[in-house]
Amino acid sequence: HAKRVSTRSRIYDASMGEFLQQKQSKIERLGQAIRNEGLALYYQPQFDLYTGELIGAEALCRWDDEVWGQVSPVEFIALAEERGLIRELGDWVVRNASAQLREWNKDKDRFTGVLSINVSAQQFDSPYLVDYFLNSTKDIPTERLGIEITESIMMRYPEQAMKLLARLRERGYSISIDDFGTGFSSLSYLSRFPLSALKIDRSFVSAITTDKHNMSIVSTIIAMAKNLKMNVVAEGVETEEQAELLRNLGCHSVQGYLYGKPVSAREFEQAWLS
Ligand code: C2E
Ligand code: CA
Ligand code: CA
Ligand code: CA
Repeated sequence: HAKRVSTRSRIYDASMGEFLQQKQSKIERLGQAIRNEGLALYYQPQFDLYTGELIGAEALCRWDDEVWGQVSPVEFIALAEERGLIRELGDWVVRNASAQLREWNKDKDRFTGVLSINVSAQQFDSPYLVDYFLNSTKDIPTERLGIEITESIMMRYPEQAMKLLARLRERGYSISIDDFGTGFSSLSYLSRFPLSALKIDRSFVSAITTDKHNMSIVSTIIAMAKNLKMNVVAEGVETEEQAELLRNLGCHSVQGYLYGKPVSAREFEQAWLS
């Protein structure tokens, strides 16, 4: 009996060791990717649900590695946070997104919407990101740029987050709450934060036409946003039925595969800016 246990634990040790080794290799390659232009930003369009006008784009990070293939941002962002690479990665996103905006608007304003970048909770545990953002985007009109943060940021560092967001909002940058409805933020908090928009999480949008409960949640979020003078963006819109229902409920803006998937800057230009 004792022998069997030790065999099992040896197997466990071996696979655990391999797992850690793979993770270490992934982290090293991610670090290289950040430093050597191995990452890319993809852009997903956002539209006014009533006029059909292009009103913005969300920048989404991509990593296609020679060894690991296409790694999901959910995985590599978590890895970057865990291993202290998130600052470098976040800087790269800010630099890249702003460079893209400069290029698009070099001769004439081809992109007149708001380009939003994603920011994770850890990037808000110090003023660093906001300082970096403000310093490296000085030459870009502030109404062209926005950030998307999750409710967890407001919950984790309410006082600090409020101060940092106020600095951005005062200057005219948009601030959207991402995945809204999944984080249980308190409503009194919500009204105290300087927010521009709520993004209704995809999980609510995808069930909107089939589940009455879901529809009431979405309808409540839209009404609440109106009262707080905020815009509402529905994310993950995939069908005409969802779009129609969202329009009837008074949702302003949409983003999703029905309109366009996240694509490279070149493809985005061809599809939406020419
Ligand atoms: P998110 O910010 O909620 O981004 C929306 C995700 O939904 C994206 O996944 C997008 O490709 C996907 N999506 C958009 N429309 C549809 C649709 O109609 N149907 C479906 N099924 N999916 C849709 P993606 O690009 O894999 O990103 C996943 C998450 O990774 C993002 O979720 C965000 O939290 C994080 N992320 C991505 N880029 C960055 C970044 O530059 N910085 C940080 N901190 N996080 C990032
Ligand atoms: Ca987002
Ligand atoms: Ca989202
Ligand atoms: Ca999400």
